[in-house]
Amino acid sequence: MKIETIAIHAGNHVDPHTKAVVQPIVMATTFERDADGGYASGYQYSRSANPNRDALEKVLAQLENGVEAAAFSSGNAAGMSVFQSLAPGTHVIAPDDMYHGLRNQAKQLFAGVLEFDFIDVNDEATLRAHIKPNTGIIWVETPSNPLLKITDIKKVVAIAREHNIKVVCDNTFATPVCQQPLSLGADLVMYSSTKYFGGHSDLMGGALITAEKSDWWTKIRAVQTMGGAVPSPMDCYYLVRSIKTLPYRVKGHVHNALLLATFLENHPAVEQVMYPGSASHPQYEVAKEQMILPGAMMSFTLKGGQEKAKKVVNALKIFTQATSLGGVESLIEHRASVEGPDTKTPFNLLRVSVGLEHIDDLIADLEQAMA
Ligand SMILES: *Cc1c(COP(=O)(O)O)cnc(C)c1O
Repeated sequence: MKIETIAIHAGNHVDPHTKAVVQPIVMATTFERDADGGYASGYQYSRSANPNRDALEKVLAQLENGVEAAAFSSGNAAGMSVFQSLAPGTHVIAPDDMYHGLRNQAKQLFAGVLEFDFIDVNDEATLRAHIKPNTGIIWVETPSNPLLKITDIKKVVAIAREHNIKVVCDNTFATPVCQQPLSLGADLVMYSSTKYFGGHSDLMGGALITAEKSDWWTKIRAVQTMGGAVPSPMDCYYLVRSIKTLPYRVKGHVHNALLLATFLENHPAVEQVMYPGSASHPQYEVAKEQMILPGAMMSFTLKGGQEKAKKVVNALKIFTQATSLGGVESLIEHRASVEGPDTKTPFNLLRVSVGLEHIDDLIADLEQAMA
């Protein structure tokens, strides 16, 4: 089946009792036992499993061509579960521009438990130089946040394989509509489903999808159910509902993003546009090779520094100045001020999550704001 069909049908079933076409929401935390003490339904307690979470995990696994998925209460909870699944003392190689929330988590919550090196994962010599006997994981995030740098997943996987190291890919910016890391050899895909999967800026969620069942995956499952950072049945329901339109939403987002990038590249106030779908992107060829579509996240820098960037943001009427991404509404953000004083993000950079408004209205809004 193609992704549009999977998104609609996987994880949904007609309710056998009422014949409801949409799977009902099961809010119960606990499930009745049989006379012999067993659980005929397969459900026992909702932290361990819930019908709506099962439905969500099923569609996530199929979208990604994985064997199983685990749903979490946020992207950070999904990331933390990966770190918690590792033996103390494991060395983790992560990108120097890793999503700042996870970088802070790694540094602050796992200090003294795991060893981290934050490097340019895409640079082969640097990557090889940092591999140690206790390296367990190479973390990849591509396209990266907020510079939209591309990491060649196949290349990283090939190096990891030589050393029996697992590769985890944060695929939040791309979604399975734009990039499928498991098919490029990654072992685990991580998502903040708060973003494109939810798609309407109204729920938090995270997910991990595995290429194979393994002892490591069993450990991750244990962290999920014993740790308990699980999504509510309501959030699972909303995610399953939103995922049905994910392929078409993402295609619409990408359509707008390609046109917006072209507009920005030709605008005299713009210094540089960072978008994997632009031929001017330094890794355009790698992006074209490994991505199905270039996504709808982009950053651009303005001539006139931080002052001009902040002026533009405040003059916009349709774009909302807010963090996060992947919703139907276009968002824009002065990223350096979110990331704190040690950020490497240029101060004249704005990050855009291109929404689903009409592209003419988005361009007109930027035009008046940059004038
Ligand atoms: C938002 C985000 C996360 C964290 O997800 P939450 O749902 O906010 O916990 C992780 N990685 C990337 C790339 C993100 O954009």
